[in-house]
Amino acid sequence: MRVAIVGAGPAGLYAAILIKRFRPDAEIRVMEQNPADATFGFGVVFSDQALAFLRDDDPETADLIEGEMVHWSDIAVVHRGERITIDGIGFAGIGRLDLLRLLQERARALGVEPAYECRLENPDSLGDADLIIGADGLNSILRRSAPEAFGEQIVELDNRFIWYGADRAFDALTQTFVETPHGAMTAHHYAYAPGRATFIIEMTAATFARSGFAEMPEPDCRAACEALFAETLEGARLIPNNSVWRRFPRLTCRTWHHGRQVLVGDALHTAHFSIGSGTRLAMEDVIALVKALDAEGWAVARALPAYQAARRPVLEKMVRAAERSAAWYERFEAHMALAPWPFALSYIRRAGRLDAERLRGLAPRFAAALEEKGISLETAV
Ligand SMILES: Cc1cc2nc3c(=O)[nH]c(=O)nc-3n(C[C@H](O)[C@H](O)[C@H](O)COP(=O)(O)OP(=O)(O)OC[C@H]3O[C@@H](n4cnc5c(N)ncnc54)[C@H](O)[C@@H]3O)c2cc1C
Repeated sequence: MRVAIVGAGPAGLYAAILIKRFRPDAEIRVMEQNPADATFGFGVVFSDQALAFLRDDDPETADLIEGEMVHWSDIAVVHRGERITIDGIGFAGIGRLDLLRLLQERARALGVEPAYECRLENPDSLGDADLIIGADGLNSILRRSAPEAFGEQIVELDNRFIWYGADRAFDALTQTFVETPHGAMTAHHYAYAPGRATFIIEMTAATFARSGFAEMPEPDCRAACEALFAETLEGARLIPNNSVWRRFPRLTCRTWHHGRQVLVGDALHTAHFSIGSGTRLAMEDVIALVKALDAEGWAVARALPAYQAARRPVLEKMVRAAERSAAWYERFEAHMALAPWPFALSYIRRAGRLDAERLRGLAPRFAAALEEKGISLETAV
């Protein structure tokens, strides 16, 4: 079995690892356009059960990654200067580069050495592979070479965001909302290593237009953001890493495979970053793909439709939650008319998965505080 994997992000590396676990005899070639130690962004978070999804199929990789994660059990929402803690909804974070390093080590231990600084320019050049896995992210060359076959649809959301790091940690996954002279802005910020945090700043298109950020060189923009979020940063500096203003692209594909090619992770779909699940979804796609291959005796023509049939309903549930969360952020300025406690409730219920009973079970102190204040847990989002 010859497998070509395009991209050595979380999905591509994990595909190499899992295929080798099932098929030690497989010949696997991984191509990555960047050097091994280059990456974008800073930390990634995994929601609630962290790596529980990995543990059943691959305890060695789960142990390796868990050992380097930062865990925290609270979410904090800051609105009108009031900080409200939502207890019990745990997260775990890790630097993206650390995650990739661990996956690279694991792949090497299983005998796969990715080829770095090796960009695939044309999928036709992958002549003799039995299976080609497109793990090449949002701008996937595989998908872009056959957009109609995959039925890709990309819609950009209106809000603008920029992904920075910060040289300090925060003690909870925090969402800070501030009023500025340009309009409301929000920062999603969370630690991923000692003394280091991810710091994503988001605003509506109208606020972005008033801010003048579009015309500003990046260093000036960073200085302006440091000033606008000075109270939150408490003297910390923002750290750039290919930081540019973007609109979040919502990507879906009608068909997940085309001939012997199949898509996984961000090449196939995106899920808004506010639910912190993109990396997990990418790795779960790989688990579903490899299980389908194994169940179908590694017959690619049968396994690829089986992968899509089994995985799609599960994925669509998460994507719907991510879309509701994204829609809440697109209107966050309007939600800010709420007082801090109802606002925090609206925030935590934004993905539509928490009814009153689940909220009481998950975040008992937060739920009790709301009920003491006479705020119904079922208040419409
Ligand atoms: C602002 C922001 C914050 C996020 N925060 C989180 C978070 O907290 N938690 C989380 O889980 N997810 C988060 N995500 C999402 C997460 O980054 C992605 O879902 C995840 O990286 C998907 O992994 P992947 O391997 O599918 O794709 P990628 O990580 O994009 O990897 C694709 C790889 O393919 C390579 N490549 C591309 N084209 C070629 C080519 N032609 N030839 C060779 N190599 C190629 C690229 O260089 C890259 O290394 C966030 C995303 C954004 C935008």
